Amino acid sequence: MQKPVLTIVVPCYNEEDVLPETIKQLTNVLEHLMEEHLIAGGSKVLFVDDGSRDRTWELIEQESERNPLVTGIKLSRNFGHQKALLAGLETAKNDSDCVISIDADLQDDVSAIREFVVKYWEGYDIVYGVRRSRDADTWFKRATAQWFYRFMQKLGVHVVYNHADFRLMSKRALEELSRYTEVNIFLRGIVPLLGFRSAKVFYDRKERFAGQSKYPLKKMLSFAFDGITSFSIAPIRFITFIGFLAFFLSSIAGIYALAVKLLGHAESGWTSIIISIWFIGGLLLMGIGLIGEYIGKIYQEVKRRPRFTIEKTLRSPALPPLSKK
Ligand code: UDP
Ligand code: MG
Repeated sequence: MQKPVLTIVVPCYNEEDVLPETIKQLTNVLEHLMEEHLIAGGSKVLFVDDGSRDRTWELIEQESERNPLVTGIKLSRNFGHQKALLAGLETAKNDSDCVISIDADLQDDVSAIREFVVKYWEGYDIVYGVRRSRDADTWFKRATAQWFYRFMQKLGVHVVYNHADFRLMSKRALEELSRYTEVNIFLRGIVPLLGFRSAKVFYDRKERFAGQSKYPLKKMLSFAFDGITSFSIAPIRFITFIGFLAFFLSSIAGIYALAVKLLGHAESGWTSIIISIWFIGGLLLMGIGLIGEYIGKIYQEVKRRPRFTIEKTLRSPALPPLSKK
């Protein structure tokens, strides 16, 4: 097998605090891999600036001028982690044999990258980085993540347990990924659907090197909700089921109420009526809301809007120009 050209894709949103260190560590890894002849020259780190409002882009630009291992693209605004990552993958796949994605904050262990590449040499198309422990995360984050993975599994969406977006993908896996054109993309759910031979590499997740998490609770919830509703119609089935159950139970209650009335001691009334009104009202609202959620998804998908817009592309001086597509 020929030495592969590797691109490491790093989505960045307001990461000026951590970026210099990230650049240092990642280029260091690349240099070592090249010395070991595990990857070809022309391998590089591709930073994706996801519409940062701090000096992130400046740092990337400066570095790319003096460091041939560093290049970058700048999105025209903040598109969110998943789409930034996708923009990076789509860009990288044109001139790479394999691509590794990693967060900018150095929570994922960069020394696992070597193992990823070794797995690639062994013939794996997809290598998942799996967290051995999550001690560095808060109790809350761990609990919600655990719950989320379990729930997804129950719904039949096969996400890799304790794997975030730290993974290697071969060119052909990436080409398959390009055929999934949904706007609300949830990479962790899609990648296992691609098939191909895959392997896992375990590592310890660390504290964020610097800066703050860009995933506050609200974003986490919407991420989880997107993940669930773009892969499964189980929630809608569940509501239908509850609806039938409620109908059945209230029919029995109705027969009972009628019987009480016919037998003459009819003082029954207010409480049960109020309770059932609220109960049914709640159910209806819940059902409508959920259906609305799916209709919203359909609405977003049928528009077929572009998922990201690249404003600028940097080119490392050492690399040949990208072929125009
Ligand atoms: N990120 C991004 N766009 C966003 C939010 C985050 O590109 O809108 C990047 C961020 O810079 C980081 C990665 O996605 O490299 C993961 O974000 P973060 O570390 O904040 O998430 P956490 O590890 O807390 O889940
Ligand atoms: Mg992080």
